Amino acid sequence: MKLHVLGCGDAFGSGGRNHSGYLVEASDRLFLLDCGPTSLLAMKKLGLDSRRLDVIFLSHLHGDHFGGLPFFFIEYMYQKKREKPLHVAGPVGAEEKVRGLFNLMYGRDMGESKDLPPSQFHVLQPDTSTDIEGIGVFSFRVPHQVNEVSLALKVSYEGRQILFSGDSAWTDQFRAHARNVNLFLCECSSYDRQTSNHMNYRQLQKQLSTLQCGKIMLTHMGDDMLVRKAEIAYPTAQDGIAIEV
Ligand SMILES: [Zn+2]
Ligand SMILES: [Zn+2]
Repeated sequence: MKLHVLGCGDAFGSGGRNHSGYLVEASDRLFLLDCGPTSLLAMKKLGLDSRRLDVIFLSHLHGDHFGGLPFFFIEYMYQKKREKPLHVAGPVGAEEKVRGLFNLMYGRDMGESKDLPPSQFHVLQPDTSTDIEGIGVFSFRVPHQVNEVSLALKVSYEGRQILFSGDSAWTDQFRAHARNVNLFLCECSSYDRQTSNHMNYRQLQKQLSTLQCGKIMLTHMGDDMLVRKAEIAYPTAQDGIAIEV
């Protein structure tokens, strides 16, 4: 299984990086972890047909993580008709927000809603395992948003597992759920700035050395992380790279 980094930037486009989007390519499945506004164009740069996408998993409903869905929908409506539905799985409220965003951007007239191309929505309930198109997904709630639900996602396919932190402050749940995964894709928004809803490298450094997982890749880096990239002891994501999982 291969993970293509479509976008590893933060909400501010720090370093000119694309918004959040990670494309997982398995032998007979193609799925996305997050779908930021730049995801479709990044997929086209890789020469991959968007119709091949089976599922889009959403960690949470901030614009840099889900704002790209309307572009996939209009492509399926006008340029590349899908035969099979696109599955969209995310925290509670995802369907309403995605439909609302699509109507805001491409509804016929103000207030009039337009049907989506074939799609099926799934609510990911925290601490529950489910299976979507044969892809196993386990999610758990992470400290990022206060009123809405932010999830970390653990996906499994063909015996390989990826844990994606989504956006989050550190929680010891990551240590438990990273155990034995092949890749932990972990946000690291800043180098040493303390915030209640994102991680910083100083704090993360202590935790990462204790994890029992395969590869670690840091992502969602802000400007202060990017200027100190040479000092970071762990692999960092970059738009356009692919890693074997
Ligand atoms: Zn973000
Ligand atoms: Zn966020």
